[in-house]
Order: sequence, then structure tokens, then C-alpha cells
Amino acid sequence: MRTDTQQIVRLEDYRPSDFLIDRVELDVGLHPTATRVVATLTMRPNPEGRPDAPLVLDGDELNLKALALNGRSLSAEEFEASPQSLTIAQAPRQPFTLTIETEINPTANTKLMGLYRSGGNYCTQCEAEGFRRITYFLDRPDVMAVYTTRIEADREDAPVLLGNGNPVAGGVVDGSDRHYAVWHDPHPKPSYLFALVGGRLGRVSKTFTTMSGRAVDLAIYVEPGKESRADYALDALERSMRWDERVFGREYDLDVFNIVAVSDFNMGAMENKGLNIFNDKYVLASPETATDMDYAHIEAIIAHEYFHNWTGNRVTCRDWFQLCLKEGLTVFRDQEFSSDERSRPVHRIAEVKTLRARQFLEDASPLAHPVRPTQYREINNFYTATVYEKGAEIVRMLRTIIGEADFRRGMDLYFERCDGTAATVEDFLSAFAEVTGRDLSHFARWYEQSGTPRVTVKGHHDPDAKTFRLDFTQSTPPTPGQPEKGAMAIPVALGLVAQDGSDQDGSDQDDSAQDRSWANAACERLDSRGVFLFDKPQDSITFTGVTSRPVPSLLRGFSAPVKLSLDLPNEELLALLRHDTDAFNRWQAAQTVAMRLLVGLAKGVDAADQDIGALSGALCSFMGRDALADPAFAALVVTLPSEADVAQEIGQDVDPDAIHRARSQMRQRIGRSCAQPLQRFYDALSDSGPYSPDAASAGRRSLRNACLDLLAAADAGTGEALAVRQLESASNMTDRLASLSVLTTLPGAVREEAIARFGDRYRNEPLVLDKWFTLQAAIPEDGTLERVTGLMQHPAFSISNPNRVRALIGSFAMLNQVQFNRADGAGYRFLASIVLRVDELNPQLAARLLTAFSTWRMMESARRAQAEQALRSIAQKPNLSRDVGDIVSRSLEEGGAK
Ligand SMILES: [Zn+2]
Repeated sequence: MRTDTQQIVRLEDYRPSDFLIDRVELDVGLHPTATRVVATLTMRPNPEGRPDAPLVLDGDELNLKALALNGRSLSAEEFEASPQSLTIAQAPRQPFTLTIETEINPTANTKLMGLYRSGGNYCTQCEAEGFRRITYFLDRPDVMAVYTTRIEADREDAPVLLGNGNPVAGGVVDGSDRHYAVWHDPHPKPSYLFALVGGRLGRVSKTFTTMSGRAVDLAIYVEPGKESRADYALDALERSMRWDERVFGREYDLDVFNIVAVSDFNMGAMENKGLNIFNDKYVLASPETATDMDYAHIEAIIAHEYFHNWTGNRVTCRDWFQLCLKEGLTVFRDQEFSSDERSRPVHRIAEVKTLRARQFLEDASPLAHPVRPTQYREINNFYTATVYEKGAEIVRMLRTIIGEADFRRGMDLYFERCDGTAATVEDFLSAFAEVTGRDLSHFARWYEQSGTPRVTVKGHHDPDAKTFRLDFTQSTPPTPGQPEKGAMAIPVALGLVAQDGSDQDGSDQDDSAQDRSWANAACERLDSRGVFLFDKPQDSITFTGVTSRPVPSLLRGFSAPVKLSLDLPNEELLALLRHDTDAFNRWQAAQTVAMRLLVGLAKGVDAADQDIGALSGALCSFMGRDALADPAFAALVVTLPSEADVAQEIGQDVDPDAIHRARSQMRQRIGRSCAQPLQRFYDALSDSGPYSPDAASAGRRSLRNACLDLLAAADAGTGEALAVRQLESASNMTDRLASLSVLTTLPGAVREEAIARFGDRYRNEPLVLDKWFTLQAAIPEDGTLERVTGLMQHPAFSISNPNRVRALIGSFAMLNQVQFNRADGAGYRFLASIVLRVDELNPQLAARLLTAFSTWRMMESARRAQAEQALRSIAQKPNLSRDVGDIVSRSLEEGGAK
């Protein structure tokens, strides 16, 4: 393992660049194997830099062809060049021009960083450090320059040529088959936001008029013939632009906004200035090929990348430690957009499910790190759920604490003050501190301290004094590099709910009375929005005027990313499911009860028969009463915590087989006792009319498919018959995939035939085949590993395409708890061998796959030993990439990095 030679980059070592680049003129002659890049950099020493520093430019696998300073070619003694860097020891102390010519091979670029080819087109990915694979550069986000890019290419090969900014010139290169386009971006930007595209692409477009009346040409480029599948994305873009004007007062700032969909992409999408590049799975959609979930993701990711234009591009990050400054904030913005466009409680529940499944898991793993890390070996490994999702939760908590009006004022000040700069978390927080006059230094600990805080609450009712006291304690477990933790500033949104939902004085027996009943209850520690700021290790709050024992509804809307432990009996939780005004906590109450029962069953400590009966009774009556009011919400309520959620809750000596059995058993019980309402809703919500991806229609489909899933769990014969009928008659991918998914849980010839027919039907649709790969990889049966290795031979599978690899191998490792964590270790050995193979092609992708091992320490001892062995087999390989070397060494480190 080469970790000892891996350089660690530390936040505390930050210093300004010794040189600055004001202008970049790029001339890129596209060629499949020998692309020539001539970069002319207008530079000067940075007054804040070291006066005698040499000029050191970053490179990565570069091949220098020529170098000139102020127009004069430099002799070999005047510089030092390697594929990784270019150094000029005696750099001028005055402004100067550096002209660098490099040659690169986009066809051989399998890392998908820098300039590469996808489906015969040329495209780029420069975040975090890909620009240095195009030319030597000061490749750091605080070096911001104005770019002009001339792109030249074969007219046949690449009729479309796109760059950042606005198009300013173009034409045919005289006497040749080549043509060119010149793009100019007037906004200074860091190199990670650079992009260019050349290729044969279809286009959809429309004109958008901004709030100040400027016309902007919006266009989405896709594989020719798939133009109509970009319509939804284009619509989502327009809605995002309007929303950002309305909610944040942010207007778009160029004449064009282009999006290009490519099929080989390491991430979801990239916010390059004026030229977003997308993984095509987040652009292309038709009812025949995309599910409701796909439509929702497209909407969210289109919005996310667009919102970066202000949070990321106009205000960028000073250094990569501040990644959450752009990502956490932009995730928060896209979540708010989706909540406004869809059902807010349903969206909030989905966000929290993701947060717990990915970020809480990361916090409990050897890969735990603060939202703003203090060190890294490989920055690509910090595009994590912690930076993104927990980063968004911090912004949400900030808004909860200071209120919406002050939040908006703080955002305005942040934009005003930091526009055109490379900023820090401190710059961000200081804007809010200033508009509110609050000291946010304690709150800032959320950026520094890793781990998920645990909040324990106990309630005490005094009927004589008519008081209700809540005692809070908090602690955060140790994480790598952070053995000791301080108390966090935790906003707890809360209310009290009557046990029976009735009013306190008994005058209102209506179920909907909910916490109106506590109109007389008062607590001076709550702010006007019902939020208690819990910022000490222990604290208590007391309500007065509480005549009967209430049920506390805590952490409403999931007001902080913490684990809450509240010792309420199941029947009180089920009262919350029935009566709470907070939809999130209604859902949470059912989940908490289900989780208790699942953990008990999995540990074999409690047969819990009566309790399961009580839960299914509550779910049945919930369905009968409330399901049609918000079907999407109902679908979430009747869906049990996942096997991975249960494993995380148990936390140590996990036996995935026991969890799988427990969950199957509970699904069966609930499916049986609720069979009548489930069947009724399944029939009542049947597919009718043309498909529409809107949230209400999607909600009806999600409830119907949740019913199907439970009906199949209750009775395999019924389930199979319903699923087969739905698979044959479905008018859209959502229903078709849901029925196939149910069939995959029912072994036998019917399933195998359905799988084969689906694969055949969509053999020319890579994005649909990804779903097909995923379903099969997730089958929790012994034969699945063989199935997966067999599918790697499928003509549509390619080890070099990230979407295919994630769909088949990533799904096996991340979604299939029982088979990845096989007791014989075969799942672990399989993943280890794939990681090593992928690492030779695409280290970023390999490192992502490897994070599936992050749960290894919570497994029971036999599995733990198998997983450790597999990890060590990776660690001992020579020539690991820095990406994989970093993850494997952190995964194995005892107690974590210092
Ligand atoms: Zn982003």
C-alpha cells in the first residue's frame, strides 16, 4: 500500500497562490488521439503570495510540446516539466504571458477526468482537479480567470462545438474539413468550472425571459433521435430559473444556457458555467423508459446544477475544504425547490431517508469526517453524503434558528458581499451573524465536528402542578481523529399532542384537534416558531398549563440531523401516527414502532406478536382513514425501514440474514392483516388515463405499488398473479418496473420468464437495462452472485461505463444486504476483485464501489473477518490509485486518521 507516500493536504496549511491568472485563452484542436491544446495565460505575481516563489503549475499525465514566456520560447534549462507539473524557477515579478502547448489523447482517457470521449463525442469533466489533465495550470478554485476558448474540430466528426459563456465567433477553417467556434465567458471562474463539448448531437431549445427582461436561449443537447426525451428536463430548467428569481432573487447572467447529456460520466452532473454536462440518466425521460423517481431526480438535478450558477459559480470556494459551501447550500436550495414543486412533507421524508441511509451510515463508519474536513489525501473521495446532505441540513438548521426572513436577508448579504470571490464557510456564516446580530460561533461547530449527535429525551408530567417537563441530554460518539466531542447547537422543533387527540378541556372530540388542544400550554424556552435551541450537554424545558399527560412530538420536520431517543410506549407513538399535526412525525412514529419490532425480531429477543398486531392494526386504520388524502405519504407510512436501516440501528454484531428474515416476516404479517384495505386501494388506484409524471399522479402509483408489494409478501400466489397482470398491462415504466420488482422476490419460472422478456424488450435502451441489472443484483438469494457475474457477460454491460457498473455491481454491494454480506465472504471477494479491475481504468469509480465496505466493522465476527481479509487483499496490491488507496487505508485504520 502506498499510503505512506500519499501527500496529505491540510486546511491549516492553506496559503494564497503565489501567482494569479487573469485571462486564459485556449485554442483546442480536437482530435481523437492527439488533441492539441495551446493555452495562453495572462499572469502576475500575487501581492499576497511569497515574493520569491517559483511558478509551479499542476499537470496530470500531460505531454508538453512547447513553452513560451512573453512570446519567447524557453530553453530546456529555464523550466522543468514532468507529466505532473511544470516549474519555472525564475518567474517574472511583473505581469507576463505564458504560452503552453500540450498534446492529449481523449480516446485513451478512461478516468473520465479532463477531456475524454463518450459515445463518439468529446466532453470534459474538470471538478475537482481535471483541468490539469488538459493543460498545465494553477488548478485551485481561488485562482479565477476570464476564459476565451476556441474549439476546432472535424466538421463531420463534431458538427456541434460548445464552450463556457457566450458564443462570439465561428466558421469554417479555410481549405480544410474543419470548423471552429469561439466562446467567451465574461465571468471570472476557477478552472474546475471549465468545459467544452464537441460532437454530433440533437437539440431541444426554448427562450427564457429573465425577471429583468433579458432573453436567454436555453438548449439541451442529447444523442440524435432522443430529443423528445429532453422535454421534461427543459421544462424543469425553466421552472428552476423562475423559482430562483422568485425565492432567492437570483437572475441568470449569460445569453445562453446549455446542457449536454453524455452516457459516460462519473457523477450525476456538473455545473460548468453556462455549459452543464449531465449524466444522461438525469436528462432523458419518457413514460416508456423512466420511472416517477427518474422524473423527480431529473427535476432535482437540473435545478441543483442551475442553482450552482450563484452558489458555486458566482460565489465559489476558496479551497476544496469549503466544498460544502457550494454543495450543502445548493442541495438545500434544490430540496426547497422540489418541496415547493411537490408535496413538502413527502419530500422531507425522502430527504431524511436518504440522509439516514447514507450520511448517518457514513458518520458511523471508518470514513466519518466533518462537513468541512480538515485534511484529505484525495479530494475526489470527499464528494460525500456528509458534505452534500449533512451540509444541506446545516443550512436548514440555520434557517430554522434565525427564521425565514432573516435567512433571506443573510443570503442576500452573502451574495452581495461575496459575488465574484472564492469564499469560506466563515464568510457564509458572518453574513447571517451580521443581519441577525447573533453569535453563530457555537453553531459553526456543525461544520467541524463529525458524527451523528444522539439526543435523549425524557418527559415528566405533574398533574397537580399541570406542568410537563422534558429533560434533554446529548452526546456525539467518537469518530476518526475526534475522540472528544462538544455539545452541538440543536434546533428542536416540538409540540405536545393529546393522547386521544381531543382538546384539553374535552370540548372537542374531533380527531383533527391535535395540538390545538394545548393552546393553553406554554413554554418560554420555545421561540415563536415552536423551536427549542438545545445547545448544552443537558437541559430541561417545562410547559405549564398541561392538565393531562401529553405525547411530546419532538424534532418536527426532522429539524436537526440527530438520532433521537425518546422512551415512549408503542401505543403513544401510534397516537402520534393518528393525531400529530406534523406529517413528518406521523411517519416517524410508525417507523419507530416498526424499527423496534424489527430489531427485536432480528435479535430473537422478543416474538413481539401482539406488538406487530398493534402496528398492523394502526396501519390498517391509517390506510382506511387517510390513505387517499395524500397517497404518496401513505405509501411511505406503510413501507417498513429497509434492511440496511435495521442493520444501522443494531449497529454491532449485525447478522444480515436474521434482519432479512425479520423484515420478511413483518411484511407478511402486515400484508395479511391489512389485505383487505391493501387490495381495495390496489384496485381503486388502478392505472387510468395517459401518463403524467406530476407529483399527485406519481403518489397514486407509489401507494398502489406499495400495496402490491405487501400483498405479495402476504401471499406469493396472489402477488405473482397481480404482478404478472400489471407487468403486461402497465402503460408506463413506473408500474412495469414495480411489478417486475415484486416478481423478483418470488422465485420460479414465472419470474425468470418475466426477467428475460423485460431484458429483451429493452435491449436497446441502456438506461432501462440499468434498472434491469439493478433488480437482479438485489435479489436476496444464494444464486445472485452467479447471476451478477453472468450478467457481466451481457452485451449491454461494460466495465468502463460508470452507469452500467453502478447499476449491476454497485447495486449488488449497496442494496443486497444478505448477498453482499454472505457469510462465506464470496460477496466481499467479488467486490474486491472488481474494485481492483476498475481501478486500472477509472479510480474514482473504483473508490466509490469500495465504500460499500464502510459497514464492515458492524458485522458479526465471521463476516467481519471475511471483509477485513478482502480489504487487506486490496491494500496489499501495488500501484493502487490514490482514490482507492485512501479509502482502503481509512477503512482499515484502527481509531481513524490522526
Ligand atoms: Zn453540486
